[in-house]
Amino acid sequence: MDIWSKEKRSECMSKIRSKGTKPELALRKSLFARGFRYRVNDKNLPGKPDIVLLKYKTVIFLHGCFWHRHEGCKYAYTPKTNTKFWVDKITSNVERDKVNLQKLTVLGWNVITVWECEIRHEYKHDLTPLIDKVTKIICDNHLEN
Ligand SMILES: [Zn+2]
Repeated sequence: MDIWSKEKRSECMSKIRSKGTKPELALRKSLFARGFRYRVNDKNLPGKPDIVLLKYKTVIFLHGCFWHRHEGCKYAYTPKTNTKFWVDKITSNVERDKVNLQKLTVLGWNVITVWECEIRHEYKHDLTPLIDKVTKIICDNHLEN
């Protein structure tokens, strides 16, 4: 027997589906406040971008520094144990990122990568500088096209 009402269940399902992480939500909220409207986790696009700004033909990836190896970032360290496993895993992530970037570019999308440390760093303070930067990239691309 189904003990949950339909509404309650769909409410719960929607909560499970929207599995945005804290930094991701912070980024989305800030973009929304600037008047941007977007889709999230679009499965139809290569790499399933975190944020899709259809109107601006722009996608945003929010990358974890460790998993996507943010060059020169302190969070992009190599674990001392199981080193080969991690190096292989992260290398294949980076390769996949490159392929997705290429595919999206060919399809005419502008791709912006935001690193988690950029948000982590500013999270407790203010995302304004980061959002300014992202907004500028979005608008510059928009004006060029
Ligand atoms: Zn980083």
